[in-house]
Amino acid sequence: MGQVVLKARKTRPFLARHPWVLSSAVASVTGTVADGDVVDVLSEQGGFIARGVFNRRSHVRVRLYTWDAQEPLNATFWDRQLARAIGWRRRLGLLDSDSAARLVFSEADGLSGMVLDRFGPHLVLQVNSLAVAIRLPMLIPLIAQLAGPESITVRSEAGLAKVEGLEVRAECAWGTAPDGPVRIAEHGIRFAVDLAAGQKTGFYLDQRENRRAAASYMRDRRVLDLFCYSGGFALAAAVLGGARDVLGVDSSESAIGWAQTNAELNGVSNVRFVQRECFEMLDELREAGEQFDAVVLDPPRFARNRFHVAEALRAYHRINRVAVDLLAPDGILVTCSCSGSVSRQDFLDMLTGVAAKSRRTIHLLEQRGHASDHPVSLACPENEYLKCLICRVL
Ligand code: SAH
Repeated sequence: MGQVVLKARKTRPFLARHPWVLSSAVASVTGTVADGDVVDVLSEQGGFIARGVFNRRSHVRVRLYTWDAQEPLNATFWDRQLARAIGWRRRLGLLDSDSAARLVFSEADGLSGMVLDRFGPHLVLQVNSLAVAIRLPMLIPLIAQLAGPESITVRSEAGLAKVEGLEVRAECAWGTAPDGPVRIAEHGIRFAVDLAAGQKTGFYLDQRENRRAAASYMRDRRVLDLFCYSGGFALAAAVLGGARDVLGVDSSESAIGWAQTNAELNGVSNVRFVQRECFEMLDELREAGEQFDAVVLDPPRFARNRFHVAEALRAYHRINRVAVDLLAPDGILVTCSCSGSVSRQDFLDMLTGVAAKSRRTIHLLEQRGHASDHPVSLACPENEYLKCLICRVL
């Protein structure tokens, strides 16, 4: 087996079980090691630290999977990790027939570079590392055995795949993929999900519990759901929350199409969706003097990495400022950030700035993150990305 020797004083994060050995931490590589091979990671003195998978094409030179020197990274290992991850969701009751849930969340489940989402009987496997990509012929049958799905569709996130030097073709790798959208239910609300072409793996599962929490403040309110995608928050507000009427806005034509389909599936007539650019729409609504009792802001990731944080915070400030202006007294603001590089504290400080500029008192009611099927390992805090603040704007 090849060996990767770390630079002196670079071992500490890996002893603490951080799973990404960056190229800058590597002193030398011994043995003939091909991309995708299992390697041992050693201290400068030659002591075993962890075992992982090598990839020269990625700046994450080794992804670590076990810290037990006796444990080979064979099918038994992957099967056990998958069984632990899926077993946890089963205990949470997330494997019920028509529900949707994340079954595997990458590093948090000890499966770096793998995301597995379930939509009723169908699974979507998002492959974000070479380590996972080249083991697909072994992993797919293991997943099929553990979860018993009708199909497994393999996808990758374009940006991540490029960084890892991967080429993953979106295709059905097991069983028969649905020939149209899959119907799921979230808190009893029905959604049609396009597994092959939808954003992410088709649906934003990370916001599941936040949609329900937000809905609980929406009774009889006029709601504006900005960046609504397929209508998650909008429909939760209408169906669960008893909102008076809801306007959902998104710039994606297909998202608005799905949102309209989803409104029909739930038989609601007080929810309207329009295809618009949200920054423009916000300014226009403010100029027209429109008011709402609740505004949801769930924009896409504004900061790709730490170099874009300042710019992202300015964009967050701008949309939150206008959203607050649109709120009637005693309004509800649900404001989210899915930029991992923007810390929770930065996001809170941004909102404090908005309160000061707009001369409104803002009460924080709930500070939320991802749903419990998206755990965060304290060893890899980089995986935490979602902030969702529910506020009362006086
Ligand atoms: N709230 C949604 C998820 C939103 S994801 C849910 O609960 O499912 C972010 C959405 O923002 C995507 O649907 C994307 O199409 C949309 N989007 C990105 N940039 C936009 C812009 N400038 N104006 C409007 N929508 C935008």
